[in-house]
Amino acid sequence: MNSNLMVNMQDVIKRYGDFTALDHLNLNIVEGEVLGLLGPNGAGKSTAIKTLCGLIDANGGTVEVFGKPQSVTNLEIRRHIGLVTQEITVFSDLSAIENLRYFGGLYGLKGAELNANVAEMLDFVGLADRAKKRPKTFSGGMQRRLNIACALVHKPKLVIMDEPTVGIDPQSRNHILESTKKLAQKGTTIIYTSHYMEEVQAICSRISIMDAGRVIADGTIDQLMGSITYEDRVNLTAAHASDQLTEELKAIAGVKSVNVSGNQYLIVSGAGSSNVNRIMEVAHRNGGVTSFSEDKPNLEDVFLTLTGKKLRDDEV
Ligand code: ADP
Repeated sequence: MNSNLMVNMQDVIKRYGDFTALDHLNLNIVEGEVLGLLGPNGAGKSTAIKTLCGLIDANGGTVEVFGKPQSVTNLEIRRHIGLVTQEITVFSDLSAIENLRYFGGLYGLKGAELNANVAEMLDFVGLADRAKKRPKTFSGGMQRRLNIACALVHKPKLVIMDEPTVGIDPQSRNHILESTKKLAQKGTTIIYTSHYMEEVQAICSRISIMDAGRVIADGTIDQLMGSITYEDRVNLTAAHASDQLTEELKAIAGVKSVNVSGNQYLIVSGAGSSNVNRIMEVAHRNGGVTSFSEDKPNLEDVFLTLTGKKLRDDEV
């Protein structure tokens, strides 16, 4: 039994009219994990999140959350989920603290527990000094932070953050990232969607990549990197460029090309040739190197290879 599976979605189908938004989706998350959910626009991430939160029902398959069947009528499960979206749902005419008390009250918190959670959340999102101010006086990033605090004031076991940092200032963005890390350190299970690869790389312990309504790749960052074939690219600056050096580099097994510009050498080898040591040995024998770097594939390359699309539509 997978008793510590917080979310278990099996063969889930969701249709909007004739359109199939979730097409036999299999998605799971284990207690304590921070799962990065990535996918190009229209992949079905929001639909998957709405389904697992019980905001919409699937047309087929099984959706279990905390080991119990999820559905729009299962309000008990929803009490233990915190959903953070880009939409600001706080009341602009209530102060920050009043907003938090209101949302805490919706989840049945009262008395000392409500007071303690509200104070903790204000501190958590760095708004303790603004507790009595109304969000309409806040920057966009501060409003977003208050929004997060309101979504988490009931201390949910499962937190879902759907692109929480889109379009906000770097300071608030860093704040949200740090807060998410702290939440994870406390053992909260988190699903995090983002178009920012570096955020996902920094926060997530596992990544599921969705495309066309299903998960097409899943694993740790290292596992995903290992799943694609990627050319090895070594840049080096030779102490003494020479034709001899170029020819010897070209002769190394696996080397596909050597580009020389002045003292700069770019050596491209086939995927997995692992010949950095041989390249260095040849370079040292031919006068040495003054600098050296290796281009590693990143999550963006994995994503592009698997989906044929960029993480963000605005990238060229
Ligand atoms: P993502 O979050 O990955 O961008 P969504 O889950 O929002 O993807 O959408 C998946 C697909 O389902 C998209 O093609 C979208 O246009 C479609 N879709 C989403 N919601 C609805 C809806 N309420 N009615 C019809 N089509 C929808």
